[in-house]
Formats: sequence, C-alpha cells, structure tokens
Amino acid sequence: MTTSSQWFERAQKVTPGGVNSPVRAFGAVGGTPPFMASASGPYLTDTEGKEYVDLICSWGPMILGHRHPAVLEAVQAALQRGTSFGAPSGGEVELAEEIVARVDPVEQVRLVNSGTEATMSAIRLARGFTGRNKILKFAGCYHGHVDALLASAGSGLATFALPDTPGVTGAQAGDTIVVPYNDLPAVEKVFAEIGDEIACVITEAAPGNMGAVPPLPGFNAGLKEITARHGALFISDEVMTGFRASRSGWYGRDQVAPDLVTYGKVMGGGFPAAAFGGRADIMQHLAPSGPVYQAGTLSGNPLATAAGLATLRHCTPEVYARLEEVSSTLGREVSAALSGVGVAHRVQYSGTMFSVFFTENAVVDFDDVQATESYRYTAFFHEMLRQGVYLPPSPFEAWFVSASHDDTAVNRVIDALPAAAAGAAAA
Ligand code: PMP
Repeated sequence: MTTSSQWFERAQKVTPGGVNSPVRAFGAVGGTPPFMASASGPYLTDTEGKEYVDLICSWGPMILGHRHPAVLEAVQAALQRGTSFGAPSGGEVELAEEIVARVDPVEQVRLVNSGTEATMSAIRLARGFTGRNKILKFAGCYHGHVDALLASAGSGLATFALPDTPGVTGAQAGDTIVVPYNDLPAVEKVFAEIGDEIACVITEAAPGNMGAVPPLPGFNAGLKEITARHGALFISDEVMTGFRASRSGWYGRDQVAPDLVTYGKVMGGGFPAAAFGGRADIMQHLAPSGPVYQAGTLSGNPLATAAGLATLRHCTPEVYARLEEVSSTLGREVSAALSGVGVAHRVQYSGTMFSVFFTENAVVDFDDVQATESYRYTAFFHEMLRQGVYLPPSPFEAWFVSASHDDTAVNRVIDALPAAAAGAAAA
C-alpha cells in the first residue's frame, strides 16, 4: 500500500505543489491531503482505507452521490459504443435539450469541457456581440482561471491570499472592472461613467467561491435592469448553482433572466462537461453560425454527455428536498456546536451550498469575508478530518451535500462537531 504521504511526496516531484488544482493541496489548513482511492454514495475512501463523509462532492458534480447506479450504467453503455467521435452525436443534442427545457432564458447552448471554458467563451461572445471591450465582475467571485477574470477572484486565490496572478498581462486584465459584491450603487456608478463601453456584467448567480455569500434581495434583478438599460449583457455564472440550487438552478429561485448563463459540475455528472447558453440571437453569433470563434476536440464527449444526462434525469424533486434537508440540518448542527462553546459565527447559504463564517456580522461581500476570524477554521477542519469528515480545505469555499447523504452519514458529521467546535474555540 502506498500511503497518502508517499503519494504526496511523489506528486510534489512531478507536479507543482503535488496537485492538479491548488486548493486540493491543503495550503490554507496545512498538513498532507489524503489521496483518494475510491468513493461510494456520500463516502470517500483514501489510499490507507480510511473512510470520510464527503462534504465537497467533487466541488459540486456528485449531487446524486458517488457511483450512482444509473450514472454508472449510462457511462458503461456509452463506453461500449466508443469514447470520442470527433463528429456530432445524439447525446450532445439530448443534453442540450435537457438544459434548454429547464431554463426558459436559455434557448441554445454550446457544450465545452470545463467551467473555465464556459465563462471564457461567454465573455468572448458578449464582446463579439456588443462590439465592446470592458467587462465588470465582483470581488470574491470566481469564474475559473480565465485571464481576464482572475482579478480579485475567490476560491484558490482567496485561499492563498493572491490579489491576482502573474502571467496575466495588463492588456488582458485592463478591461476588467471589479466592484464589491452586493453593491448596486457601485455598479450604477461605473455604468454612469462608461456604460457604453461595457460588454457584460458577469456574476456568480449565488456565490460559493468566497464561501456562501448569497445575493441580497433584488441584487441580480438590479444587475439585469442596469445592463439592459445600457445595452450590456448580463451573464449569470451557474457553474456551481446550476441544477443544484433547483432543477433549473439559481434561475429557478429568483427568476431573473440572464442574457447568457454558464454551467458545469452537475451537468457533467462527474465528467469534464460544461456549457454556456442563452438568448438564441446572441448564441447565433458563435461559429459556425456567426463570426465569434469557439471550438473543442472533446466538447460534447459521449461519456460526459451520458453521465450528465443520467445525472440530470435523476435529479428528482426528492433529490432537491433531500439536499435542502441535509444542508439545513448540518448548518443548524454546526451552529449549535459552535454556540455551545461560545464561538461567534454565522452559517450562510447560497441555495443548498453553505459555509460557516467566524464572525457575528452578516457577510455580504469579500471585505466582510476577509474580516472574519478565518484562522479558527484550521482547527475545526483538522478535527473533522481526523474523525472522518472531509470538508473544503479552505475557509473560503462552500460545503456541498448530495442526495446520498442518508441519516447515517449526517449523524457521523453531527457526532464529530463538538470536538471540532472545541478546536475552533481554542484557536
Ligand atoms: N465558475 C464558477 C462559479 C466556479 O465555481 C468554477 C469552479 N469552481 C468555475 C467557474 C470554473 O470551473 P472549472 O473548474 O470547471 O474550470
């Protein structure tokens, strides 16, 4: 048996930081990340045979739990038919139809391989469609590692306290305007000055990448109104919330119709699939219908579309009811455990994603997030991990649950909370 420490040592020799996505390295919380060997339902098992209740769910995709029988069956059937055609196939049409049928403002979609590609392509399309260069994003929102979108991004950049990143040129970032999240007057001000130069506003439909910081009532509607008034596009990034916040994503909750939407995670069922879509008159500007170029060798991959379709089709009302139940139970129990040891905190929700902030105050933007006592999370995290609960290894990420989190799994988490809360109190 190769232990996690041995794997990590080998990994660090051949891969920067030993990981293929930064937050996995435990940089914010320290220690050796367990290397996973297998997964089933709500559980991950590491290479040493230790089992964890998984509260990341692959950062969103595993909404039905790991190795859901219907998803496995669909993928195995697809595997028998071939792994990549480089030509159109029916599964791509069915997945696109499934998305379009769920979300009224999405009339057409283009499939891609990652959320990063989806946002990158949506921004290019918005610029091509409007003939404008500037884009507006919010501090603490993460939209993948697109050059122009890494300014004041959340997720790994927040975890590692990076304001932005070397390797992005002034020209690439120069057209990106960043304003505080949930601050409509700040958006109004920018548009009053240079509204006719702005191609789009992009926002996480309900942020999870600075922890869960939901939009204040009217915020998304305000963005829609301001962009429409100035001839800019409103892009809602639903990579995390899409088909998780409801069967039609965050749109199903607030009914604010974006011009373009980006998806990933759940719609790929654990495979690399993502999408962007929206108004047909805008989407028609994409090649080969229109002049804005976008392409992909593996886009619409038959294994990924099979997994995504099977996942979406099994997201029944019972699935969403269970996500609500598990996330509200866990949030309540985390809160009770922390209150029990006198630690000031808030549990916040973006739909069924949630996170705990160590503060008494409402957290509505990235400044608020950074003002929290996030150092308490390290002790909390490690005690949970020791007891077999796998939380995001960063205080600036959301927790994800699945419909496979049954009472046994939930109770294992609850039983681990008092010691973790005591750790947070002592920090
Ligand atoms: N947008 C959002 C809201 C995300 O949460 C993420 C990834 N966590 C992305 C875009 C990028 O997706 P990917 O990691 O698949 O490139």
